[in-house]
Amino acid sequence: MDTDIVHGGVKPDKKTGAILTPVYLSTTFVQESVDKYLDSGYSYSRTNNPTVKMLEEKVAKIENGYGSIAVGTGMGATASCFNAFMKAGDHCVITNCSYGGTNRICREQFEPFGMEFSFVDFTDPKNVEDAIRPNTKLIFSETPTNPTLTLADLDAISSIAKDRGILHVCDSTFATPYVTRPLDHGADLTIQSLTKYYDGLNIGTGGALIAKTPELHDRIKLVQNMHGNIMSPMTAYMILQTMKTMGLRIRQQSASAMKIAEFLEGHPKVGRCVYPGLDSFPQKELADRQHRDNLHGGMLWFDVIGDPIRLMDTIKRPWTLCENLGATESIITACAVMTHANMLKEDRLEVGIVDGFIRISVGIEDPDDLIRSLDDALNGL
Ligand code: PLP
Repeated sequence: MDTDIVHGGVKPDKKTGAILTPVYLSTTFVQESVDKYLDSGYSYSRTNNPTVKMLEEKVAKIENGYGSIAVGTGMGATASCFNAFMKAGDHCVITNCSYGGTNRICREQFEPFGMEFSFVDFTDPKNVEDAIRPNTKLIFSETPTNPTLTLADLDAISSIAKDRGILHVCDSTFATPYVTRPLDHGADLTIQSLTKYYDGLNIGTGGALIAKTPELHDRIKLVQNMHGNIMSPMTAYMILQTMKTMGLRIRQQSASAMKIAEFLEGHPKVGRCVYPGLDSFPQKELADRQHRDNLHGGMLWFDVIGDPIRLMDTIKRPWTLCENLGATESIITACAVMTHANMLKEDRLEVGIVDGFIRISVGIEDPDDLIRSLDDALNGL
């Protein structure tokens, strides 16, 4: 995995030997003759671009897929998945605690188009099985979920899907392939917001939809071409470079997250701390089985006893108050009053986003500096 993250899918430039993939900022590609049309594999950059293709091949290799599409954002990848595999009258079983944008596009865009969705608790695969209907075409899991960090048992859910000829797609943005590869657990497709750990440096937005088979890959390439949402070559170039340190970052982020979680668990201003590495994690057995190499990622959350807004307003560097996650800078978010403020309170509480819910994305700073700053802010509440 560590070697593939650096070299996987990438070949040095044939003509010049350039070690990094050049940025092909060209809309169109000259054809030698009608006879040899498409011999080079390229005609128009909405369909295929050499820089973007290199990223698509690299991501597919790391995720253990046959192929992938790279698009403008993670939401672009999610939308492409529904567009590729659902139509009016089809039904999808989807986690009731997905990323908010995923939930919103199902309810506001695809339900009015005539698609049906059952939002169920994926922590028990039986709920998924019970929600399947004769017209179910897609099972959509997310693990760990944003922001509650509940896990879906991918082997169990893939087996339910396979037995009934239904596709299983997993949004693995929080895990990254470094922690879990859904395709190794029987999923047919994986979604990644490349904006998060792949980019990892708060530079670019991007998304990938990775397919296990040539047939699924053909379908998503067609959808990418029809929708015209291919990533720009410049962004593909940047992510091709930044992703090379993903493994190093995630090792550091996982180790720091564990240290911070242990600190928070013992703090008098913390009601509860949730991190898949902690013994108190409700799905600890699944976390240890599904997560690679005892790595549990850089995301955790805690329930603050006291005013979450005051905590946000008083916490000092190295913490940053903003909305992204998975990057080198540590980020703190009060979900109930920021990212999830527009949810109905009862819906929010039902999925576990309590009023004092504080989500943390651990960066690569010295964990002792992060703990010191958290301690100061919590003691001041
Ligand atoms: N999936 C998950 C789990 C996310 O957390 C996010 C964004 O936060 C997305 C998808 C959407 O990604 P993007 O912001 O790149 O569209």
